[in-house]
Amino acid sequence: MSKSKELFSEAKKYIPGGVNSPARAFKAVENDPLFIEQGKGAFIYDVDGKKYIDYVGSWGPMILGHNHPAVVEALQQQLMKGSSFGAPTKLETILAEMVVEGVSSVDKVRMVNSGTEATMSALRLARGYTGRTKIIKMEGCYHGHGDSLLVEAGSGITTLGIAGSAGVPAKMAEETIVVPYNDISALEEVFKEYSQDVAAVILEPVTGNMGVVAPKNGYLESLREITKKYGTLLIFDEVMTGFRLAYGGAQELYQVEPDLTTFGKIIGGGLPVGAYGGKREIMNYIAPEGPVYQAGTLSGNPLAMTAGISTLKLLKEEGVYNTLEEKGKLLEAGIQENIRKVDIPVVFSRIGSMFTLFFNGSDVTDYQSAKGSNTKAFSIYFNKMLEEGIYLPPSQFEANFISLTHSKDEIEATVEANYKALLEVK
Ligand code: PLP
Repeated sequence: MSKSKELFSEAKKYIPGGVNSPARAFKAVENDPLFIEQGKGAFIYDVDGKKYIDYVGSWGPMILGHNHPAVVEALQQQLMKGSSFGAPTKLETILAEMVVEGVSSVDKVRMVNSGTEATMSALRLARGYTGRTKIIKMEGCYHGHGDSLLVEAGSGITTLGIAGSAGVPAKMAEETIVVPYNDISALEEVFKEYSQDVAAVILEPVTGNMGVVAPKNGYLESLREITKKYGTLLIFDEVMTGFRLAYGGAQELYQVEPDLTTFGKIIGGGLPVGAYGGKREIMNYIAPEGPVYQAGTLSGNPLAMTAGISTLKLLKEEGVYNTLEEKGKLLEAGIQENIRKVDIPVVFSRIGSMFTLFFNGSDVTDYQSAKGSNTKAFSIYFNKMLEEGIYLPPSQFEANFISLTHSKDEIEATVEANYKALLEVK
């Protein structure tokens, strides 16, 4: 038995399902998870000593690759000074200032510990600020596991084939109205009925959690217009896309400014961080200035802030996002060529350094078309890629991430493995 399998059966004795987040269990791909010993650059190494080119990147944060020397060094230095004080440090202001400077719609930002906390808090703020209760979310978008947001959500919820979660009170779910992503008329219909009740519209501006799906031309602009018209706050959940698609996130790429933005993943540089920010007038509604309460023992933790600061510093350097785009293009060209050669009905969807290979013959523009993918075929593909030393997210409904450390060699090796895996599926 492999060491990973041994560790997994031991873990299952003490941890529900043996994992601390469901997607890690490899259920959808009918395999057992690898237990990871260490990471370096574009690679991870499992406890059995096998090396993999990693496209999970801890589900998004590791844009610099694993164990970047500058981040490690900054963390070591901070660790010597202490790991948490529950009192302000200048590090919080430094990271907040970097976020504010990087993202033009954000005047002020509050640090929390995860993307889930960021979206939950942003919704409470939107409700407190507008005095309204309903929220609109898009089918297949995942915003963490807060009650209001676990309705027709993507990511692990789709992977497990369920609509939501037991334990979410019906009354809570009733306050969440779900409309299809990329469908403005559906949204307009909802506003006709609930014009004065909707506190916020929340979405992933580019989705990653039903796989990578881009907004149609003009979609984000129309969302901005409609929400403005009805006095509803527009929340971009940029937990995945923030500092990933551009330094200023999807809102910089598409030039649409939301009222509030949620962050996570990259801004924590691999440590647990989330944040939510927006216009000064709205953010001043948060305690201790305002009446909306939100707090956290470890919020703004100095180690997490340090990892975030050193990561953003490197991302600010000239040319970073062009480099990521070039890597993405190279991978895309290779995979498209394989698709032609193997002649198989799959769609390669990519924006910058995020991509998904949908086992689907038609274009994927929303949740319904994403769900039309052949998950059995994905599972065969995934397992062959793993055998070939390529570590992908273990579900069709996830984004893959390219890091700055994926070199031409790793990309070529990935394209080669992709060819073999597509043949295996066919
Ligand atoms: N929002 C988006 C867009 C995400 O992709 C995720 C996690 O994948 C979350 C929110 C939740 O973040 P966390 O897992 O840090 O709670």
